[in-house]
Amino acid sequence: MSDALRALSARGEIAVIGLGASGAAVARLLARAGARVYASDAGTGEGVARTAEALSAEGIVAEAGRHDLERIAASGCVVASPGVPPTAPPLATARAHGVPIVSEIEVALRALPGVPYIGITGTNGKTTVTAMIAHLLRALGHETVEAGNIGTPLSAVALEGTRPAWVVIELSSFQLHDTPSVAPTVAVLTNLAPDHLDRYATLEEYYADKDRLFANATGASLRVVNADDAEVMRRTARVPGVARRFSLSDARCDAAYDAAHQQLVLAGAPLLERHLLPLLGAHNVANALAALLAVWNACPGDQNAAGRAKLAAGLMSFHAIKHRLEPVGEVGGVLWVNDSKATNIGAAKVALEGMTRPTVLLLGGRHKGERYTAMLDAVRAHAKVVLAYGEAAPLIEADLGPHVPVERFGSSFGQVIDRARALAVPGDVILLAPACSSYDMFKNYEDRGATFRRLALQPIVAP
Ligand code: ADP
Repeated sequence: MSDALRALSARGEIAVIGLGASGAAVARLLARAGARVYASDAGTGEGVARTAEALSAEGIVAEAGRHDLERIAASGCVVASPGVPPTAPPLATARAHGVPIVSEIEVALRALPGVPYIGITGTNGKTTVTAMIAHLLRALGHETVEAGNIGTPLSAVALEGTRPAWVVIELSSFQLHDTPSVAPTVAVLTNLAPDHLDRYATLEEYYADKDRLFANATGASLRVVNADDAEVMRRTARVPGVARRFSLSDARCDAAYDAAHQQLVLAGAPLLERHLLPLLGAHNVANALAALLAVWNACPGDQNAAGRAKLAAGLMSFHAIKHRLEPVGEVGGVLWVNDSKATNIGAAKVALEGMTRPTVLLLGGRHKGERYTAMLDAVRAHAKVVLAYGEAAPLIEADLGPHVPVERFGSSFGQVIDRARALAVPGDVILLAPACSSYDMFKNYEDRGATFRRLALQPIVAP
């Protein structure tokens, strides 16, 4: 066991909260390293029950359906899975008893000492930029694994025992909160906007968790930051190390968009014409610039003409990720676009701004705290009508209704889709960019996006 891992188990049993993929992987990682582990999940589904059984068969104490709070209170350390909110009873119990809480990522990083990694955070674009960076590193020929929020738990990477040349890790604010040793080779901050106000008491607290990406920065650290985002620049101004900046307008930046010639520019030279990047929306140009800059700085050996050509080819072969401004099909001249992952106002706003056709906008779900008036200009410019649904519908109607056409629905998504289909004419877009979480009506955003796709593509039954 590495010294850093041993330090975690020195205080006694480790309680792993959550039996999803990352909880199971970290429980195994810790047990293999010789720690005593108690893993639990309050869920009663078949999946967690099976995981608990499998872990038990391997000699790890695991239970599904409840958390033994007394046991957790007496543990030496708690490991939180990414999906577990900080207010959940086991985490509240740990805090009340002074038990240190660390993220699954923290444990995995300790098990991978010295591995080069790029860490990505920000309010929006994390997954896209993470996937792009991994894709570009592979385009350069470097063996790369993407991990964290994007899919594979970092603990699963650590368990495998192989060491890729690069690991690209998507980090949420909650994960950063509990990852004190984070120190990426290159740190990327995409942007900052209000989000998660249902979970954070103040915006400052949320942003302060994002700042933790730089907590261990030194004079030798490299960071990639968004020069168009005043909050990002203000908060990172005093971080030690070198800042590489990207911008959609400022040609003096290390990576920039040249609007006059419609091309992406890297390190002072044109790299790719805009139309060759197969993604909708200006925000995706910003994401591509951030990814380019991260990879360019991570790989000084590729800073040459051959490297540039591979990066350009890499961007050209990158495709929209599921549920992120993903065109799902054109039916009767109407394009259906699934941006179910647009779970905050900032994301829904940029999605709308990326639309070049009149748009029927589907907005709604569980409210997350910010006023919808913040997206009014984009709605005015692009949406012919807003269909407001779910728990947030009355708030959306109150905020936007006085200014633009809004129709209000309850929680039948089928009704919303039927109405969207009836209102759209050939040449229009139907855009699901809900600006809300999905939990009032769906299992998660993937379920919401998949339902949208299925209903969009289902054959229309003649009356
Ligand atoms: P995250 O992982 O941070 O949630 P994603 O890459 O999954 O971000 O994208 C989620 C949604 O956020 C997208 O569907 C899009 O609507 C919006 N988005 C993506 N990139 C950006 C960006 N750079 N700026 C603002 N919004 C963005």
